[in-house]
Amino acid sequence: MAEDGAAPSALVVGGGFAGVAAAVALADQGVRVTLLERRRMLGGRASSFVDAATGLTQDACQHCTLGCCTQLASLLEALGVHRHIRYHDTIAFRDIRGRRWDLHGTRAPAPFHAARSFLAMPFLSANERAATARTLLSLLMRPQTASDYDTTLGSWLRSHGSPERAIEAFIGPVVASACNETVDDVALGFAHKVLRDGFLAARTAFHLGIADRPMGELLTAPVQTYLAARGGAAQTGCTLRRIGCTPAGAWAADTADGRRFVADRLILAVPFDQAARICAGMGDAGQDLAASWEGLRWSPIVGVHLWFDRPVECPPALALPGSASQWLFHKSSSFGRMPGEAAYLTAAVSADRRMADLPAPDVAALVADEAREALPGLQGARLCRFRVVKEHKATFAALPGAERLRPSRRTPLPGLYLAGDWTRTGWPSTMEGAVRSGAMAAAEALADLGLPRPAVPPDLAADWPARAAMRLGSLLARLPHLGSGRRSI
Ligand SMILES: Cc1cc2nc3c(=O)[nH]c(=O)nc-3n(C[C@H](O)[C@H](O)[C@H](O)COP(=O)(O)OP(=O)(O)OC[C@H]3O[C@@H](n4cnc5c(N)ncnc54)[C@H](O)[C@@H]3O)c2cc1C
Repeated sequence: MAEDGAAPSALVVGGGFAGVAAAVALADQGVRVTLLERRRMLGGRASSFVDAATGLTQDACQHCTLGCCTQLASLLEALGVHRHIRYHDTIAFRDIRGRRWDLHGTRAPAPFHAARSFLAMPFLSANERAATARTLLSLLMRPQTASDYDTTLGSWLRSHGSPERAIEAFIGPVVASACNETVDDVALGFAHKVLRDGFLAARTAFHLGIADRPMGELLTAPVQTYLAARGGAAQTGCTLRRIGCTPAGAWAADTADGRRFVADRLILAVPFDQAARICAGMGDAGQDLAASWEGLRWSPIVGVHLWFDRPVECPPALALPGSASQWLFHKSSSFGRMPGEAAYLTAAVSADRRMADLPAPDVAALVADEAREALPGLQGARLCRFRVVKEHKATFAALPGAERLRPSRRTPLPGLYLAGDWTRTGWPSTMEGAVRSGAMAAAEALADLGLPRPAVPPDLAADWPARAAMRLGSLLARLPHLGSGRRSI
């Protein structure tokens, strides 16, 4: 409680998943929260826009979650919207030669849950499948080390005998979509996290969650209602200009429309370049703080929206290894058919800087051609409309060296905390990472206010064989010189 008996207060700047998670965690403990977001809708990079042509709300780019993203699921549950995420236990793949493969699990515990579908993978020979299984097992057993963030996944895979075709057909597409870098560029540590926690450790971890409505709609009204019911508010269309300390030791935020908000604590949950700009405006201490993450870079993602003149049979998500489109999502089926809409597909093109530089009509034509090739029902279909969304600042670049630059949520400035997918969470740039960062920043603020830290939703537990493999891996890594000449895990 503040001295006057009023509930403590906090400002959260940025209404992406990090800011929303921080605001919800603070409000749950009785803190009066004001969330400031410059856009009209919440969700940040996972947000939506109103399409002028149809008046319908559309996602800027497809966002997916996985079964292992437990804190995101828990946040959506608290907001009463988790039921809008549909989890799919089969992921369809189709390569450029037209061969189909479904990755699906069984009831067997991980890492054996996908063994049956893995053995049926048509893209690899039996020898290649065996070599890939050995590589993935090594990855599962490998304890994470700090040096994993200084080397690339590609170099590790090749030194562990992974066949090139396994990299192209399976590991590459999965890693590109989760880490937004190619196998040859991504730091091993980020990819290891995704492959282990998302595919190898638990049976349901890879289940692909797709929202049945636009993300902006999923968040905006529920968050506003949630905060208002707890004495707070989400102010959208409100751009922060500068922050600073008041003589009384509180934090003040001045907005572009001339308003000033004052609170006991401030969580800055904006992307790293915006955070650097805002911190730089605070003088030397802020500049020193921002200098700590100087060197973080962005990687682009291109979202391609295509409306064809006829309905089409297409799984909710279709991976296209070897193609420029990478993934196709069947929005008509995820959202339910929209009025006047025959087939609405989107592609999400990750880790492809060349695609991000192509003119939009060329990108749309390329992806439409690949969609026609992949989906027999689209042969001869007319592309009625397209929209290409180039997010040049989609994710922080998960390259070697990046992890060292990610700051923790606590800053040297008392009462100021950082959140965002780019802060140190143990996760790559994802909604789950953003939610975790927000929850961790809120926990620090609550501790400083003398309030209890909220309970942390548990991670998805590893299945017993995977757990045993990981324990064995840790043990082997600790035994000095065991079997000299043995390949390191
Ligand atoms: C095209 C694309 C596809 C992606 N696909 C996936 C996916 O499938 N799965 C997944 O998990 N992740 C995906 N990601 C990554 C994911 O979107 C991000 O990791 C996550 O949304 C980041 O959340 P955040 O809260 O940290 O940051 P942001 O979402 O960037 O939120 C920051 C917020 O701060 C606001 N803001 C900035 N400056 C100010 C200011 N001065 N005043 C007020 N507000 C301000 C911004 O408007 C924004 O709303 C994708 C990202 C992109 C761009």
